[in-house]
Amino acid sequence: MITKLVEDLLNKNLDIDEYVERTYERIEKIEKKIKAFITIRDKEEVKREVREKLKNPKGKLSGILIAIKDNISTKGIRTTCASRMLEDYVPPYDATVIEKLKQEGAVILGKTNMDEFAMGSTTETSYFGPTRNPWDLERTPGGSSGGSGAALAAGIVDIALGSDTGGSIRAPAAYNAVFGLKPSYGTVSRFGLVAYANSLEQIGPMAKNAEDLALLYSIISGDDPKDATTIHFEPQVPEKVELKDVKIAVLKDIVEASDKPVVSIFNSTLDKLSSEGAIIKEVNLGYAEYALPAYYIIAMSEASSNLARFDGVRYGYSKYYEGNWRETFAKNRGEGFGIEVKRRILLGSFILSAGYYEEFYIKALKIRRLIKDNVDNILKEFDLIASPTMPILPPKIGEVVEDPIKMYAMDLNTVIANLAGVPALSQPAGFYNNLPIGLQLMGRYLSDYYIMAISAKIEKVLNLYDLTAPIS
Ligand code: GLN
Repeated sequence: MITKLVEDLLNKNLDIDEYVERTYERIEKIEKKIKAFITIRDKEEVKREVREKLKNPKGKLSGILIAIKDNISTKGIRTTCASRMLEDYVPPYDATVIEKLKQEGAVILGKTNMDEFAMGSTTETSYFGPTRNPWDLERTPGGSSGGSGAALAAGIVDIALGSDTGGSIRAPAAYNAVFGLKPSYGTVSRFGLVAYANSLEQIGPMAKNAEDLALLYSIISGDDPKDATTIHFEPQVPEKVELKDVKIAVLKDIVEASDKPVVSIFNSTLDKLSSEGAIIKEVNLGYAEYALPAYYIIAMSEASSNLARFDGVRYGYSKYYEGNWRETFAKNRGEGFGIEVKRRILLGSFILSAGYYEEFYIKALKIRRLIKDNVDNILKEFDLIASPTMPILPPKIGEVVEDPIKMYAMDLNTVIANLAGVPALSQPAGFYNNLPIGLQLMGRYLSDYYIMAISAKIEKVLNLYDLTAPIS
């Protein structure tokens, strides 16, 4: 628990040097096996910073080490988006969430591996090579925030940040047996997040239990004059929640599309919740078969526009200068971007071109609206919507990355919350052959604290929290 760790550091139950040393020892032992990080900061520099933060301990995270996904801008620390395009890019400013973390005393340990520009579900499209799952080194940790998930599961850090456009926090949370929240859209500033698909994504907390998740969310959330898509809102923190009489809708059409081992763990989780008094009923989401196409059409369209800024002129990969801009851009972009990113820029540009715009983009927006209405309607009658986080077990390295359609299909359960803008979290539900399986809970818009409070109850019922993979 983070609050306890801060206390221990403050009253010297835990020596500062020991805290930092043991973190780097863990890195020394395990990092080469899993490759969770793209950049790890110098140990002595980190130690100095931790000491300083604890000298003047005003923050809720005083001296606590945190891992940050490498698409979140950190002043003076390289921020690559796992792309050759930004291999040497060092931002001159901090993202708003980073400023907030620093104000609370947190210390950045390093920047975590991810799918290139957050495009992927397995952390294999990274220019720096894949991250491996600490629970099974043959398998992926999910993605795109797979480095953050793996760093938590490997016991390197207790808290991390990810970003979630269509499941990128929840997939690695599920596959690493940790907790991750995709916040209500507009409650966390995206200033300083390298944009992939603005209308869908949020930065969000990842942690090893629901309490730390909520603490981290309380620090990074809030409106921001630097991000016009944030909203002013009063945090709705429930006083007391109980599982008894909580009404949970189970998405039948989504569960049916999941693999057997996943469904069996999911159903046994539901049985445990219902013996705690939860009221569980099956419903259909409706339009489920259109959720993925709509998501990918919108995400790729926004991506094609966002990634136009990487032209190698002001910053980024700029090996070539051909005397004319067409060839200069084409060569630099051709080498700077990986194959999945290029695929999406091409498809997104095609979708938005005259003649196809109505047929694809506008249609996708209409489907998004229908799905959002259905989600909101279900949540008028129910407090929560539950499903497995991922429809399949963590794939083996190389199993899906070569087959984009297979990889996109992994996101069926998670994209719904991004299309609808509602909060969704993933927490450990159980294991199948020692492979982690996640439970996803979606809630009403702005009910983030409520779902995290329920999640805290569930972690106790299942006795699944503060888990670390048996790797050494
Ligand atoms: N896998 C999804 C995609 O590739 C989601 C990624 C994300 O949430 N950033 O778009």
